[in-house]
Amino acid sequence: MSILEDIAAQQHEFVGWRHALHENPGIGFAETFAAELVARKLEEFGFDEVHTGIGGTGVVGVLQGARPSNRVIGLRADMDALPIMEETGKPYASKVPGVMHACGHDGHTATLLATAWQLARSRDFAGKVVFIFQPAEEGLGGALAMIEDGLLRRFPCDRMYAYHNMPGLEFGRMLTRPDRLMAGSIFFTIRVQGRGGHAAQPQATVDATQIASNIVMTAQSIVARNIDPVQTGIVSFTDVYAGTNSFNVIPDKASLKGCLRFFDKQIGDAMAERLEAIAKGVAATYGGEVEVEFEEIFVPLVNDPEATSVAIAAAIDIVGEDKVDGEITPIPGSEDFAYMIENLPGNYIWVGTGPGAMPHNPGFDFNDDIIPVVASYFCRLVQIELA
Ligand SMILES: [Zn+2]
Ligand SMILES: [Zn+2]
Repeated sequence: MSILEDIAAQQHEFVGWRHALHENPGIGFAETFAAELVARKLEEFGFDEVHTGIGGTGVVGVLQGARPSNRVIGLRADMDALPIMEETGKPYASKVPGVMHACGHDGHTATLLATAWQLARSRDFAGKVVFIFQPAEEGLGGALAMIEDGLLRRFPCDRMYAYHNMPGLEFGRMLTRPDRLMAGSIFFTIRVQGRGGHAAQPQATVDATQIASNIVMTAQSIVARNIDPVQTGIVSFTDVYAGTNSFNVIPDKASLKGCLRFFDKQIGDAMAERLEAIAKGVAATYGGEVEVEFEEIFVPLVNDPEATSVAIAAAIDIVGEDKVDGEITPIPGSEDFAYMIENLPGNYIWVGTGPGAMPHNPGFDFNDDIIPVVASYFCRLVQIELA
């Protein structure tokens, strides 16, 4: 029997877990149902170690192979849901009003549990597999919380792997690349202080709206004029605010929010530096002042070339060569797994789940049929890494 057939025979069990997770979602750091289910299952499978409460609600399970080796492979899934009111109408729809698994992290968790179940039965590998179930992937810092709580020190891994489902992409198609796969992101807030006054007496004011508008326009020169043209970056303003709903008051204050995106941390830092200089320079030109605040949300997700070759080899063994693309164009979205593999080699791969609503949409539902496919991929990865 192939790994895939072996795992698929247990599919009803995996789907039961996935639907239980879907019914009982928790947003970042409140994934108590998932964390308890995961810990209980890992104990049931006879894991050597199960640790809970790492970085909040994170869970780590350690499985020792039948053959000795010092090599350790990490496999990671995310467990958090989103603040969205579910509209799937499914019988296992969320029981928590305003919270739903709209990104498929319930499916990622079930997939990693299916992998744990299969590997615990055979333990047919040399070394250790560390199963990492992380909280708060959706921009709330779950990976860093686990790392700051000693994840990588207590469970050092030689390499780490993870996946994300991708609806709209052919079922079973697997996409990755050997270096920069996803963008880093820095959020920014710019507060402009001018001097308000009557719209008929502009000479007595420092117009905050004029300063803010000029900052928005000039900031687009950062990518055009300050970044090496073979590199790339994005400057997006997402919130522009000034005024009090009047027609004859020049506002004294304005605020701008947005994000910088980049595939290289140094480029991100350079963009932030330029944005601050432009904001201060424009404000000074017109006699106003600014305060600029930055918040690093994600670092770029950079795959390791060797880990990626293993991922590609494992993917080809499970879904076939024609369904694997190891050289896709980088994707400007961000992913918390970037922190997990910031200082250790790893790979992140996208897996197509066929037609369906897009992630973060109230109609989204994870395609259960992909669970045995990706669990088989993870098992194959472990076979290759820990042969
Ligand atoms: Zn998401
Ligand atoms: Zn996601």
